Amino acid sequence: MGASLGSGCQNSPVVVGQSQMVDAAEEPPGRPPGSALLPILESSCSSSAENGCRSESVSPIVVNLDAPLAEPVARARKSAPARRKGRTTVVESPAAHKVASYVMPGAMLAPPAADEAPGATPILRIDSPHNAPPADPERDAAPASQTHPADPPFYIVTPSRRPQNPRSRAFRKRFFPEATDKEWNDWRWQSRHRIKNLEQMERMLSLTLEERTALIEGGQMLPVGITPYYMSLLDAENAEQPLRRTVVPSSKEFLRSRGEADDPLGEDGHSPVPGLVHRYPDRVLLLALDFCSTYCRYCTRSRVVGHGELMANEKRLELAFDYLRKTPQVRDVLISGGDPLSLSEDKLDWILGKLRAIPHIEFIRIGTKMPAVLPQRITPQLTRVLRKYHPLWMSIHFLHPDECTPEAARACARLADAGIPLGAQTVLLKGVNDSVPVMKELIQKLLLMRVRPYYLYQCDPISGSAHFRTSIEKGLEIIGGLRGHTTGYGVPTYVVDAPGGGGKIPLQPNYYVGRDGDDIVLRNFEGKTYRYPDPVEA
Ligand code: SF4
Repeated sequence: MGASLGSGCQNSPVVVGQSQMVDAAEEPPGRPPGSALLPILESSCSSSAENGCRSESVSPIVVNLDAPLAEPVARARKSAPARRKGRTTVVESPAAHKVASYVMPGAMLAPPAADEAPGATPILRIDSPHNAPPADPERDAAPASQTHPADPPFYIVTPSRRPQNPRSRAFRKRFFPEATDKEWNDWRWQSRHRIKNLEQMERMLSLTLEERTALIEGGQMLPVGITPYYMSLLDAENAEQPLRRTVVPSSKEFLRSRGEADDPLGEDGHSPVPGLVHRYPDRVLLLALDFCSTYCRYCTRSRVVGHGELMANEKRLELAFDYLRKTPQVRDVLISGGDPLSLSEDKLDWILGKLRAIPHIEFIRIGTKMPAVLPQRITPQLTRVLRKYHPLWMSIHFLHPDECTPEAARACARLADAGIPLGAQTVLLKGVNDSVPVMKELIQKLLLMRVRPYYLYQCDPISGSAHFRTSIEKGLEIIGGLRGHTTGYGVPTYVVDAPGGGGKIPLQPNYYVGRDGDDIVLRNFEGKTYRYPDPVEA
């Protein structure tokens, strides 16, 4: 099934479609392995200057979201002559107007020139988004350093660009002026420079009394750790800013409320070997380590993470693998932690290899927050390791639309291009994402990053979490505000993880009103009722 972007174009940039990975051997010159590619089906545009499209000189691209990789066409494009014109690469290819080619996001088909003979070779322009200003010979001739093109939308990922959102740029200049580009974009540098104590924190944020008290009296609680990248997304002056609330501790964490517990899900009681939770019949949770690059103040496993007691050492993990070898009903392993992507490529390779060597383990998942808190971790080296172990899926922890930066989009694009299906897990948090507009913005941005919203979790009653927990009604209100009001793919399943180990229980607004004779009465997303004929069986 194809999806036409042309019909809805209102001077919008070309949207990244379902891009596909191309082996290094197939890569056109100058494109790094794993870069995003778009299948182009044909060129057509119903928009024009009359109906609002300011980009008169170009036609948008129609993207076939389901097209398989057309190797012969990709090869044809590879051999097409290319030349540079200002910031634009121009490719002349006889295939350009046909079921054409795989090109980078932002590629445009040039319009036929007024004097162009019918059947002349069409021209494919690369790196020129749909809303780019019309060609200007003087501007195009200027050196790149003198041009100031507007930043493209955050989800447009091009291999030639190492994105840095403006907030991070300003933060880095102010607090890490000595850091080179290479260092800032190096996940190990980011890990080494995490912000972990009061002294570092008060240099960067105006702390409230509650934050300062928590940092001074932290004691046994979940440690503090924030990557410089994630810190750059925080508001230095506003302690109520959603992202800041989730990572900067508050003395409210010291309060214990009714029903709270350190292990509310009863995981420790379902742990046959250290770091392995076996609660459901055919799947297990493997805690690879207890380290996270950034610690979330509402973490369900705050009793475990960050205390340096659960290491990724081979002796412990071998116990877990032994258990799995002897438990043939387990077909699905979720590797979580801590954040498993904090491990080196070699260690991940070893763990994944051990799991794949167990014949009855069919499905492997990784749970991570790296694309949100340390997107620099998603390197080509990492994806090269991960893609060896398909089918491999990934659940990414995203909370708020402010996390959807160009850096996060690039990280997700790399994972998706490596063939990893991406799902988002979001915890519903008071004052962070507990409103329909915020949640709608988040899920719509996630879809643009090719991440399917998967679960919306009711916040677990962990000790000291009252200031984060909303009512269940709030969660139902949010799902009711999404279902039918935005793309169905974006509506997550709202679940309560039952305290005591009962597992996930899905909740949704009640659309079933009841039976009336031979009819079922249903309520739609607008609250209107409808009848569905459903005769009672005699
Ligand atoms: S990333 Fe996950 S495991 Fe780590 S602190 Fe946050 S919620 Fe807990």
